[in-house]
Amino acid sequence: MMRFFFYRLLALWLLASGGAYGASAPALHLDRSGIGNPVGRHLSYLEDPNGTLALADVLARAGSFRPSEQAVPNFGFTKSAYWFHLRVENRYAQTTRWLLEAQYPLLDKVRFYALRDGVALTSSEAGRLFPFHQRPMRHRNLVYPLDLAAGQGLDLYWRVETDSSLQLPLMLWTPDTLTLKDRDEQVAFGFYYGLLAAMLLFNALVYLSMRDISYLHYVQYITGFLVFQMSLNGLAFEYLWPEWPRWGRAVVPFSMLLAWAGAASFARSFLNLPKHQPRVDRFAAWYARIATVLAFVSLFMPYSVMIKLTTVNAFVMSITMAVIGFVSMTRGVEQARFFMLGWSTLLLGLALYPLKTVNLLPNVFITEYSMQIGSALEALLLSFALAYRMKVLEQQNQRIQVEATAQLEQRVQQRTQELDEALRHLSDANNELQKLNVLDGLTGVKNRKYFDEQLHVQLKVAGRSKLPLSLLLIDIDHFKAVNDRHGHLAGDACLRAVAQTIAGSLFRPGDEVARYGGEEFAVLLPQTDAAGAQHLGERIRAAIEQLLVAHEGVQVPLTASIGVAILADLDETGEQLVATADAALYEAKHQGRNQVRVAAASQPRTGS
Ligand code: GH3
Ligand code: MG
Ligand code: MG
Repeated sequence: MMRFFFYRLLALWLLASGGAYGASAPALHLDRSGIGNPVGRHLSYLEDPNGTLALADVLARAGSFRPSEQAVPNFGFTKSAYWFHLRVENRYAQTTRWLLEAQYPLLDKVRFYALRDGVALTSSEAGRLFPFHQRPMRHRNLVYPLDLAAGQGLDLYWRVETDSSLQLPLMLWTPDTLTLKDRDEQVAFGFYYGLLAAMLLFNALVYLSMRDISYLHYVQYITGFLVFQMSLNGLAFEYLWPEWPRWGRAVVPFSMLLAWAGAASFARSFLNLPKHQPRVDRFAAWYARIATVLAFVSLFMPYSVMIKLTTVNAFVMSITMAVIGFVSMTRGVEQARFFMLGWSTLLLGLALYPLKTVNLLPNVFITEYSMQIGSALEALLLSFALAYRMKVLEQQNQRIQVEATAQLEQRVQQRTQELDEALRHLSDANNELQKLNVLDGLTGVKNRKYFDEQLHVQLKVAGRSKLPLSLLLIDIDHFKAVNDRHGHLAGDACLRAVAQTIAGSLFRPGDEVARYGGEEFAVLLPQTDAAGAQHLGERIRAAIEQLLVAHEGVQVPLTASIGVAILADLDETGEQLVATADAALYEAKHQGRNQVRVAAASQPRTGS
């Protein structure tokens, strides 16, 4: 009440002093043709560099106001306060309500006065540094309702002070047209934020189930970006923290820096930078760290500084991201394609908006919402890129698995081959050993051990088949003398020669010679009767007699005596057979050596 009187008095004084409405811009006639249009050309402004002027001071300096001459007066970043004046006149013959919407939710402090005939009717102080409920109307933007009777006029004053760029994009509406516009906008916002929120939630859930860190970085990026965008629109203030204006302003650079920290980390893990571009990876790692620290520092830094920094950062980083994506793509990182495409759409969106603002591009839906469209497409493409990467990783995994299996199979095959070979070697060695086991070392014919076994076997065969079996025992004559005269080595050579001679005299497959001991040999003759055995003994005896063994140029004459035994009785043992042959051999020696004697019991039955 006091204030009201004060202003009335003030206004009266001003009228008296004749300098009241010296605004040089033309008054705004409120009619339907102006709906949805900026009213900037009807605004006049006054700069207050120290920010100390009050309404009274401003009214006193009405003559110093200058017309804005711009649809949207914009003074950039400034420490000054700016006063704006707008004269509105209702030319209608009825009372109507008009609305003025300041389409820039980032203004810090906006004081508003409506004066009729120099009398202040209403005043308000709102903006993003004041709690939301202080606004004249509940709206994400500052909206000023004006009620004018037929033919009435009003003088409106705004005092604007802000750390963001100082501009006052006022639009004229009626309640129904603003509602329509808001309705369209809400649908668009709902769609846009709904899409971002869905991407965010979906990828957060994917992260929880897959634990792939790329998803978490993506979620950080989208969350930061979502909060940043909602703050720019004034929606975050209205819906998220209406009573926390200071936070509502600080969160703009804060969310943006955290978003970029997330984006850098996302690029690192998504594109596998440590492997493909290690130097870029180190840069991105540092960038993410610095951006995170800076985000928290920004809460205590002047907003005007931080917002400039984050704006430059956004441009530089979205270009950098697209370039990193491109380089990764050229280095054969398959998922880089969608990564690069995603950042390029954001970049395009960011670039189109200023072009529209400076009227290089027409103000159509696509350019007006280029940032939103670009970022929504980006969010989609990056999310798709994540899914695509999963596919690529899975394919790689499969390939690795197939290769591993093939390698394993090959190794198993190789090992099996090696094993086979080893087994073959082993069996060869075994055969060799076995052979060595049955051979006599000096002469190379079968040894005594073999002979004993063979004798046993052949006795059984003979028992079953009732076929005859003969045994020759061959003893070299006067061999001691050979050794004495020519030496032991010559004796050995003679033994070898005799062994070969005996072996060479045997033609039937079953006949076999063995060294029985010292200079004695035994020959087992299966299926051979006394006549055959005597005949063979004679052949061997003659062959030994004919043998020419020379030692150091001296001939060594050799003869042998042979005893023959024939298996007479099926119950006869091997020892008995050998004893019989031995007896025949003794007989041969006794009779003068170099002859064949057949044991008496085995005499060939001649005649009958
Ligand atoms: P005989 O049989 O005609 O009665 O006369 P002998 O000289 O052959 O008699 P004896 O059986 O007593 O001699 C066997 C000799 O054979 C003894 C040994 O000097 C010789 N001798 C036995 N084994 C080997 C051998 O492996 N190498 C050589 N060089 N001589 C051997
Ligand atoms: Mg002997
Ligand atoms: Mg002898």
